[in-house]
Amino acid sequence: ALGEEPDWETSECKTSDGVEILLRGNIGVPEDVAAISASKLMGVGLFRTEFLFMEAQTRPDTRSQFETYSEVANALQDCSIVIRTFDLGGDKLPPFLLQEEAHSSSCLRRRGLQFSLLERQLMESQLCAILKVAQTSDISVLFPMVLGSDDLSQAVAMVDRVLDQFGFINAPPLGAMIETPAALFALDEILDIADFIAIGTNDLTQQLLVAGNDGGDMDDSCSATHPAVLRAIEKVIKAAVKHQCPVYVCGEEAARPELAILLIGLGIRELSVSPSNALQVRQTIRSIDLKEATELANRALKCHRQDEVECLLRKFVS
Ligand code: PEP
Ligand code: MG
Repeated sequence: ALGEEPDWETSECKTSDGVEILLRGNIGVPEDVAAISASKLMGVGLFRTEFLFMEAQTRPDTRSQFETYSEVANALQDCSIVIRTFDLGGDKLPPFLLQEEAHSSSCLRRRGLQFSLLERQLMESQLCAILKVAQTSDISVLFPMVLGSDDLSQAVAMVDRVLDQFGFINAPPLGAMIETPAALFALDEILDIADFIAIGTNDLTQQLLVAGNDGGDMDDSCSATHPAVLRAIEKVIKAAVKHQCPVYVCGEEAARPELAILLIGLGIRELSVSPSNALQVRQTIRSIDLKEATELANRALKCHRQDEVECLLRKFVS
């Protein structure tokens, strides 16, 4: 229950044959931290910071960001927290950006890290706040919508400059989200730079299946169960294993229990899910062994059609 010490006994998440799966949670605002503790998740795998400022009329300053990130870190002491830099652009444009006439339309068409690299001041002020918290807490930094080594190395250089400028000693692990088709063709160079990667199945699925993100609900066919998406995920995991780089999945579908099993079968050992789904995912993981998961993944990878994959998953849980 809220406010109580987490029960680490039951938070344990292992397959029936003892393979440990790290389950962390996705959050958007500090209030979500209560759900992380209540669902006995082992920290935050994705803090979507842009949601803090979606209604903001003025640019967020470093101090207010520092306070917010500290609040999360203090509430989850001893847990690892992955803070993602602003994933702005596209349909995520807060009032303070829309009001500024200086914005060229080309900037507004950029998303994620590309947007931040054009909005350097905003990015630097955020990094300053995150890196300050990282001096005393277990913080990692994650960059959204990475395209390749060019943008990722610019982001890393910016982190290095801020660390240097403020004399910060602890350099946190830096990660890249793999959620653009471009990143799939730049995996080796991304993995040469990144300390970890996080597969964002929401955007990866939408972009690979050319499904527009117009704010409406996606129909069921826009799912990571599409063979193209499954093969992309397999490719990412293989590349990460080759580079001995930690990899996890943080898209919403990772919380669909049968898909979580499929991902484990593909080699994933870490998931970040919406706290409301944690219990169900954990129970399902405990009920299967690695052999079953691997068989499911191998069979799914052979499918040429999404309905075949869905049929396999339905049979698996029935
Ligand atoms: C994703 O794309 O899967 C992801 C986790 O990022 P977001 O949902 O915030 O775009
Ligand atoms: Mg995304």
